[in-house]
Amino acid sequence: MDIKLQQVSYAYAAGTPFEKRALYDVDLTIPSGSYQAIIGHTGSGKSTILQHLNAILKPTSGTVQIGDKRIDAGQKPKELKSVRQRVGIVFQFPEHQLFEETVEKDIMFGPMNFGVPEEEALRRAHELVGLLGLPQQVLEKSPFDLSGGQMRRVAIAGVLAMDPEVLVLDEPTAGLDPRGRKEIMNLFARLHREKGLTTVLVTHSMEDAGRYADRIAIMHSGKCVVEGTPQEVFAQTELLEDFRLELPQSVKLQRTIEEMTGHEFPTLYLTEEE
Ligand code: ADP
Repeated sequence: MDIKLQQVSYAYAAGTPFEKRALYDVDLTIPSGSYQAIIGHTGSGKSTILQHLNAILKPTSGTVQIGDKRIDAGQKPKELKSVRQRVGIVFQFPEHQLFEETVEKDIMFGPMNFGVPEEEALRRAHELVGLLGLPQQVLEKSPFDLSGGQMRRVAIAGVLAMDPEVLVLDEPTAGLDPRGRKEIMNLFARLHREKGLTTVLVTHSMEDAGRYADRIAIMHSGKCVVEGTPQEVFAQTELLEDFRLELPQSVKLQRTIEEMTGHEFPTLYLTEEE
């Protein structure tokens, strides 16, 4: 399922004295099966875009095409339920949304709410706990008795239990230690690679964008100012400096070597996070 934003503008509290324009004429296409990173500083419009990807917000003008559904300012909320199921969002600190007595019930909550039979929801909960590297015993535990990293995994399992076609990740590693970050990012990379899950990563990290995504979109003051492959985006050194965005360390090193030797590398060499 492709997602296509065409000339999307959005204003919070539109038509009131508190109106705040957050997006200006954003064009962005996220093809089915791709891994798209969206990068930008705080306030650049990333969260506002993210909320358009599953119709939490409707554009003030322009259109958002999600699969066969075309969303514009006039859409009725009840027409959008199916979209919410197809695009799963892992919000920042998703563990804050855990609430059930047991991990099993928490993971099953979303699918059952969307009419998935109990047996199937249970099957998904058991499968996902394994996929996320948690022992099956956690299913019977209260989510609040788990470690922070485990709680995050359970919350992610809850989103995956909806069997989304597109997975949107909002700073999914915020607050985790380097090892936890690497494990979670590798898990998403595997889901993308093995299940062909379309993935959208909203991040501050140029390193993560370069390492995991096929394409990077850079947001600045509500506009999508650069879009392309990591190679294309990292080549725009001056533009990135203008937007105060730092190249990944390994790319900087590569550039230094290229300058010293006069020999250009054909590809980017992004090192693994330690
Ligand atoms: P980011 O996710 O990149 O930090 P946001 O999409 O949250 O950026 O914000 C884009 C702009 O919209 C900012 O200027 C922000 O202050 C404003 N904004 C975000 N949420 C609201 C809101 N609920 N009401 C009014 N303005 C908002």
